[in-house]
Amino acid sequence: MADLSMRFDGQVVIITGATSGIGLATARLFAARGAAVVLTGRRAILGESAAVAIRADGGIAHFVATDVSDPAQVDHLVEETLRLYGRIDILFNNAGISSGGRFWEQPIDEWERMITVNLLGHFYCARAVAPHMLDRSGVIVNMSSVLAYATLPGLTAYTASKAGIIGLTRAMALDLADRGVRVNCIVPGSIDTPMMWEGKDRSEVPPTMQQEAAEAVPLGRVASPDEIATAVVFLASPAASLITGAVLIADGGLLAKIATKY
Ligand code: NAP
Repeated sequence: MADLSMRFDGQVVIITGATSGIGLATARLFAARGAAVVLTGRRAILGESAAVAIRADGGIAHFVATDVSDPAQVDHLVEETLRLYGRIDILFNNAGISSGGRFWEQPIDEWERMITVNLLGHFYCARAVAPHMLDRSGVIVNMSSVLAYATLPGLTAYTASKAGIIGLTRAMALDLADRGVRVNCIVPGSIDTPMMWEGKDRSEVPPTMQQEAAEAVPLGRVASPDEIATAVVFLASPAASLITGAVLIADGGLLAKIATKY
C-alpha cells in the first residue's frame, strides 16, 4: 500500500522560481509537509525573506540565488544543496517568464531568452540534478501551461517553450525510468500570480478584467497558486508511484471548453 500521508520528512526539494507565485506556494507546502526546501530565483531579497518565513514557521529552508538560464549557476545550486542537505529527492522545475508580441516583430534575443529560461532552464536543472537521483527514487516535476495546447496571438515563444516542456518531460521520463526516477509535467490554466496579471498584483487589476478572467474558466474562478502546489506535491509523492511521463492538467476545465458555439 502506497504511503498516502503526503509527508516528505528527510527529503530534499529544489524549487526553481520560488521567489513568487506558484513556486513560493509550493515551497511553503513542501516545507509544511516536512521536506527541506531549497528555494531559488534571481531576486535575493524576496527569496531570503521567504526562506526566513518558512523557518519561522518551523520548516527547513534555504534560498540559493540562481538564474536557471546559466548552467554554471545551476551547477552551483546543486552543489550548494548537497553541501547543505546531502541529497536531492525532488526537483520542481517551475521558473518561467512570459512576454508577447507578433513573432515577426519580436526581437530575436527576446524570443531566444524565453526559450532559454523556460525550456533550456528545465534541461539545465534536470541535467544537473539527475545524477544525484540515479539508483534511488527521485522525482522531477516540470511546468508547462494550457497554452501548450491552445494558445493566443502574440505568444509564439512562450507557447513553443511550454509545448517543448511536454516533449521534454516524456523523453526525460524514458531516459530515467529504469533508474527509478519519475518525471511528470503540470499544466496550469489561469493562476492568480504576478505572471497572470502581467507583473501586477491582483489588487491593481481592474475588477472587470478579473471578472472576465474568472468567467473564462468553467469552474468560474482564477485559481490560487496553492491549488497548483497541491498537484505538484501529489506528483512528487508515493501516491503517484506509477505516474511518469504524464501531463497533469490542472486548469479548472479551460481545455475542456470550446471558446465559441459558432
Ligand atoms: P511568477 O509569480 O512571475 O513567478 C515566476 C518565477 O520564476 C519567479 O519566482 C521568478 O523569480 C522565476 N524566474 C523567472 N526567470 C528566472 C530565471 N531566469 N532564473 C530563475 N528564476 C526565474 O509567475 P508564476 O505564475 O508563479 O509562474 C511560475 C510558472 O508557472 C512559470 O513557468 C509559468 O510559465 C507557469 N504558469 C503560470 C500560469 C499562471 O496563470 N500564473 C499558468 C500556466 C503556467 P525571479 O524573478 O526572482 O528570478
